[in-house]
Amino acid sequence: MESLKEKKVLISGASIAGLSTAYWMNRLGYKVTIVEIANEPRMGGTAVDIRGKTIDVVKRMGIFERLKSNALNLEMIEFKNADDETEKSIIIKTKEVEVPNDEIEIERTKLVSILLDDLKNDVEFIFNDSITALNERKDDIHVTFKNGSQHVFDLVIGCDGTHSGVRKIWFGDETKYTHFLEAYFSISIVNKSLVKKDTMQFYNVPGKAYMLNAYKNKTDIVFCFLSEKEIPYNYRDVEQQKKIILEQFVGQGWRTAELLEEVNHSTNFYFDKFCQIKMPSWTKGRVALVGDAAYCASPAAGMGGALAMEGAAVLADALQKHNGNFELAFQDYNKNLRPFIEEVQAEAELNVREKFIPRTEEAIRKRNEEGF
Ligand SMILES: Cc1cc2nc3c(=O)[nH]c(=O)nc-3n(C[C@H](O)[C@H](O)[C@H](O)COP(=O)(O)OP(=O)(O)OC[C@H]3O[C@@H](n4cnc5c(N)ncnc54)[C@H](O)[C@@H]3O)c2cc1C
Repeated sequence: MESLKEKKVLISGASIAGLSTAYWMNRLGYKVTIVEIANEPRMGGTAVDIRGKTIDVVKRMGIFERLKSNALNLEMIEFKNADDETEKSIIIKTKEVEVPNDEIEIERTKLVSILLDDLKNDVEFIFNDSITALNERKDDIHVTFKNGSQHVFDLVIGCDGTHSGVRKIWFGDETKYTHFLEAYFSISIVNKSLVKKDTMQFYNVPGKAYMLNAYKNKTDIVFCFLSEKEIPYNYRDVEQQKKIILEQFVGQGWRTAELLEEVNHSTNFYFDKFCQIKMPSWTKGRVALVGDAAYCASPAAGMGGALAMEGAAVLADALQKHNGNFELAFQDYNKNLRPFIEEVQAEAELNVREKFIPRTEEAIRKRNEEGF
C-alpha cells in the first residue's frame, strides 16, 4: 500500500480497541503513535469473550493460537437459591464435551499482553499524556497534548473508552451519547477460589444480582442492582462506591455477608453504571472512534473486547478498500459495522432486565429454569 506509507495516525488509548487499531494501521503502512493517559497499559478486569465473527478477526491478526492456548476453561454455570442449593446447572465443558473452536474466554490482562507483544517494536507509545485540542486543516490535523507539545497527523482515532476524551473534544459532551440502562455493577477480583474452579455461579433477589466466576486461583465477585434514577457519586472515591454496594446488599441472604467482607477489603474494586454509547456517526472529518468510545454496549453484552477488535478490523478493511481515502472509508465503517452494533446493544439491554437482574421472584424462577 504505497500511498499509505507516509501517512501518520494518532491513536488515543492503549487498550483492546487502541492496540487492535494500531495493529491494522501498522499493517496498512501507516506510521502509528499511541497516546495513553495512564503510565503503562492498564491491566486487570474480568474475562473477555471472543466468539463468532471476531474469531475470524483474531485469526487474520495471527493471534488465534496464542489466545486459544491461554483461554480459560469454564466448565459449569450454576444458578443458586438462598440455601445455596443449585436450581439449575449448565454444563459448558467436560472431558467428553469440548468447547467449540469458535469460542474463547480469556483474561483481559492476557489479551492486552498478547496484543502488545505483537506491536511494541512497530509503533510509538506515549504514556502519561493525552490529547487536549484538535485542529483540522485541509490536509492534516493538528494535535495538542497535555504536556504542551504539538504534532501533526493525517488521522486521529479515539480508542479511549466509554468516557473518551477524543469524543468529548471532537463530538461533544458525553451526556449527548450515553444511555443509562437503569442498573449499576461492581467488580472485585480476589486471589482465591470462592467457588469450585472453572465454575460461574449466579444468585438473585428481585432487582439485585450476584455473580461469582472462579478460574485459576482467582474469583471475580460481581454485584449488580437496578436503579431507575442515576446515583450521584464521585468517580475517584472508591470508599463511597463501596458504601453504595454495601447499602444495596447488606442484610440479604445467601453468601452476602462473606462477599461484602471480601469487597470491603479488595484492592481492585471497580464500580460503574450499566450504560451504552449511541452516536449517529462514529466519524467526523479526520477523526474516528473505535470500541467503547464509539459504541460501548455495557458489560451486560459480554462483548466489549469483541466489538473493539471487530470495529478495528472493519475500519482497516475500509481504509484498505479505498486506498487510504479516509472520507470514503469512514462512510463504509459507519455503514458496515452499524447493524452488528445495534444487534449487540439491543441484546445487552434485554440481558440487563431479563437475564441478569430480573425484577420479580417469578422472573428469577423463570430465568433459573431457562438459563441464559
Ligand atoms: C483497567 C480496565 C479494566 C476493565 N475491566 C473490565 C471488566 O472487568 N469487565 C468489562 O466488561 N469491561 C472491562 N473493561 C472495559 C473493556 O476493556 C472494554 O469494554 C472493551 O474491551 C473495549 O475496549 P476499549 O479499548 O474500547 O476501551 P477500554 O478498555 O476502556 O480502554 C480505554 C483506554 O483508553 C485510556 N484512556 C482513557 N481516557 C484517555 C484519554 N483521555 N487519553 C488517552 N487514553 C485514555 C484508558 O486508560 C484505557 O487504556 C475494563 C477496562 C479497563 C481499562
